[in-house]
Amino acid sequence: RVKEQGKNNFQFYTPEMNEAVTKKMQMEIGLRKALERNEFKVFYQPQIDVNTGKITGAEALIRWQHPDWGPISPADFIPLAEETGLIIPIGEWVLNEACRQNKEWQNQGYAPFRIAVNISSRQFKQSNLIEMVSKALDESGLDHQYLELELTESIIQDAKYAIETMHKLKTMGIFLSIDDFGTGYSSLNYLKLFPIDSLKIDQSFTRNMFEDAKDAALVHTIISMAHNLDLKVIAEGVETKEQLQFLLLKECNEAQGYLFSRPLPAQEMTGIIKQQYTFG
Ligand code: C2E
Ligand code: MG
Ligand code: MG
Ligand code: MG
Repeated sequence: RVKEQGKNNFQFYTPEMNEAVTKKMQMEIGLRKALERNEFKVFYQPQIDVNTGKITGAEALIRWQHPDWGPISPADFIPLAEETGLIIPIGEWVLNEACRQNKEWQNQGYAPFRIAVNISSRQFKQSNLIEMVSKALDESGLDHQYLELELTESIIQDAKYAIETMHKLKTMGIFLSIDDFGTGYSSLNYLKLFPIDSLKIDQSFTRNMFEDAKDAALVHTIISMAHNLDLKVIAEGVETKEQLQFLLLKECNEAQGYLFSRPLPAQEMTGIIKQQYTFG
């Protein structure tokens, strides 16, 4: 029915390009209003120690529920938020909310764990990044060791700045990881220069481990390399017991994925923490 209507209105004559531009503009307008309209939420996905099954951390993942359009995937709006600069206020909101929530869990008496917040390269480049992070920690009262920042290889565009900034964050006692590791184009040389704590193996490798022997080889190699460099390693996108088995065999430290839990609203995450749930 919607399609039929479409044929009768001007959009039928609009080239697809224009439609895409219009859609993007509408999404941008929506994004600009989303913060003040409280349309964002932070969901949490547990990160599991593969040897003990215990929660070692949780990744904070933003969710956007638009009143008319319904849920919109971060894969669709985060790139636009980066392009428009809206990622700066949105990212700050996520950081504050994630720190506040983690401190709340600690105040409730649950065993403390790290909260991992994604930082886009545009945020990372902001001159007030350190200030913003300090403020989030001060205002929430969260101990610095319980904040993790997930950075992607794209921050390497300006390597000197990236290394300096990472050192500042590291000096503050914050845990640093490289997200989606293996999908960027970074030189391995940077791994030696970056003061990081852990690598997150991108889910594209985890997903195809049993279909493609090369992916399995890459997963194995990333784990060994991480250990040789004294880094922890976590696998993303773990969906099956077989994948977990393989990761255990290769001595991967941690895993995150639907096998354990999907990203959950804070309240449901509390349920998991409360049970002292041991996975696996
Ligand atoms: P990411 O940081 O690599 O996050 C992991 C993504 O994989 C999440 O998608 C998560 O829901 C999904 N995932 C987790 N386990 C599984 C699994 O077993 N199978 C599959 N197929 N997927 C799994 P999500 O939440 O849609 O986020 C997509 C991306 O959007 C994130 O990738 C991150 O790059 C970005 N993002 C999300 N929240 C934020 C944020 O607050 N700030 C910034 N800058 N980026 C964010
Ligand atoms: Mg991430
Ligand atoms: Mg990732
Ligand atoms: Mg990512």
